[in-house]
Amino acid sequence: MDVYLAIGATVFGAIIGSFLNALSFRWGTGHSVLRGRSRCMQCGHTLGWRDLFPIFSYLYLRGRCRYCRSRISVQYPLVEAVAALISIVVYLQNPLSLFAYAFWLMVWMTLLFVAVYDLRHTVIPWACTIALAVLALLYLALHFGFGGAPGLAQVNDGLTKSIIWALLAGPLLALPLFLFSLISRGTWMGWGDGALELSLGWFLGLAYGASALMIAFWSGAFVGVLLILLSKLTPTASSRGRAQRFTIKSEIPFAPFLVLGAFIVYALHLNFFITLPLLWQ
Ligand SMILES: [Zn+2]
Repeated sequence: MDVYLAIGATVFGAIIGSFLNALSFRWGTGHSVLRGRSRCMQCGHTLGWRDLFPIFSYLYLRGRCRYCRSRISVQYPLVEAVAALISIVVYLQNPLSLFAYAFWLMVWMTLLFVAVYDLRHTVIPWACTIALAVLALLYLALHFGFGGAPGLAQVNDGLTKSIIWALLAGPLLALPLFLFSLISRGTWMGWGDGALELSLGWFLGLAYGASALMIAFWSGAFVGVLLILLSKLTPTASSRGRAQRFTIKSEIPFAPFLVLGAFIVYALHLNFFITLPLLWQ
């Protein structure tokens, strides 16, 4: 590991995070995604260079706009910090290959965007799902077609040795999510979640993918129960905008949990199904 490259990767990640923030507010709202300077959401003041340092500007301004003192969404520094973390983890997993770093950075930043967008708008952009599926199939093509592209080997390398199982991993892991959507007609779980899981299955393979799905379900259930309990404890919260009452029927975006589970498995090489690959080795 090169310390300077690691620091560079962290800074680069935070800058991408800053861009993803802007994108999550502008995409699909009629605003131009690329044109137009960043402005305060409240007073509309154009932000200066001092306001645009990822994480640090937020901390320095103590979460308030420099011009009108209104609160800045905590989403900004959080997404920037998570993006920085993703970039450093991807670098540590691929310290020797710029191609592998760039490839996995693209994958994880798209997934981070999907998670943030789902949290904000409770919908997964189809453009992202399709882009991820293309990247996943490209990954499998490189992995199997060319004997493993240099440095591209990831957590499912050595576990998913058969191309048939590697291809089946996506549909098999997405199947339970699609069934949830089918049974509930999209009310328990959106169709986008199954479509997203398809790519995650291809990226991680069956054993790691199933581990990631398990983390997603457990963390999702934990947060869901927590939100219901919190809304019961604070009965007056329902009148306050975002702090709506959560019930068992409330739509909780699931993509953030799918992405969280996948990233934990990717970063820590966590496998709860270590014996699973023996089935086809
Ligand atoms: Zn302002």
